[in-house]
Amino acid sequence: MKVGILGGGQLARMIALSGYPLGIRFIFLDPSVGACATTLGDHLHGDYHNETLLAELAKRADVVTYEFENVPANVAEFLAAHTSVYPAPNALAVAQDRLVEKDFLNEIGIPTAPYQAVDSLSNLQQAMQRIGYPAILKTRTQGYDGKGQSILRSASDLHSSWQKLDGLSAIVEGFVAFSREVSIIAVRSVSGELAFYPLSENVHREGILRVSESCENDAMQAKAEDYVTKLLTALNYVGVIALELFEVNGELIANEFAPRVHNSGHWTIEGAETSQFENHLRAILDLPLGSTKSVGKTAMVNFIGGKPESERVLAIENTHLHLYGKAPRKGRKVAHATIRATHHDALEPLKKKLIALANEVDDS
Ligand code: AMP
Repeated sequence: MKVGILGGGQLARMIALSGYPLGIRFIFLDPSVGACATTLGDHLHGDYHNETLLAELAKRADVVTYEFENVPANVAEFLAAHTSVYPAPNALAVAQDRLVEKDFLNEIGIPTAPYQAVDSLSNLQQAMQRIGYPAILKTRTQGYDGKGQSILRSASDLHSSWQKLDGLSAIVEGFVAFSREVSIIAVRSVSGELAFYPLSENVHREGILRVSESCENDAMQAKAEDYVTKLLTALNYVGVIALELFEVNGELIANEFAPRVHNSGHWTIEGAETSQFENHLRAILDLPLGSTKSVGKTAMVNFIGGKPESERVLAIENTHLHLYGKAPRKGRKVAHATIRATHHDALEPLKKKLIALANEVDDS
């Protein structure tokens, strides 16, 4: 069985690492020569728009998936016309554009912060009368890890924030005074089998995920499962999905969803019976899904910009290190570590040690 993956970064790499024991092999399409997943399979080296390469990928793979959502719609459709592509292109089309995404979430009964599309400075000024301060201005497309976003604290921020967009279309949304951020990772197979992981509690800084932690028996689990089920059903979705949520006064408000395996689910490699990566493969290959039960209490810490010496990470009890094989660069996720304990109080001191190491190398 061969799985084709658009993109050869760390997500593709972790999908491949989980697939090897099941006898699954991989072929990646990625424009960069040293893409970190490509040592784990065949590499079609070239542009995502190259139809010769796309046709070769479709021919050589039994099924095609992707590790990022900004796959151009025509590329996903070209592939879907030649082979099975999961998740289907409609999920990409919704997730790629924040306006379409928020409209969609609201239509299917998943609440979001108030938002409005803006296409000029005067339009933005007008929108702020309804949205109110503070707010966040975001590009509709191509934004990730907080890129293309600015916080609007008062009317004096409007002009400079608008200039920064450089003509890209945008939405402005109300700033949510959340008590915490959580995400739910869920999976649906070709046959429609569904499974949900325990919630992840996530800490972001500068819009980039820093730490995630598994939350067994969380009071918000049922609500999150209800929302993500609505999403999976409405999209007739196959594969792993991540729905990012804010908790406010005991309610959940959706921020966005990712139609792929997700950084906030990396803890599942050691912290769940079956990782999100393996379950993504099982789902798209229509194999029975594995148990999503957590194994103890787990935290994941991202190493961004650089990585600490492995010896220092591994000296912390119960730690697992994942190096992505990527050259360090400012703001780039190059590795993560997971730490597992039997319960919260045992985890806390170990997690703190790991975060201290991450802060030493963090340059973002
Ligand atoms: P995003 O790129 O939309 O996932 O945003 C990245 C991070 O910025 C989120 O995980 C939050 O920490 C923060 N953020 C984004 N939108 C909002 C919002 N409307 N209110 C408060 N924080 C937000």
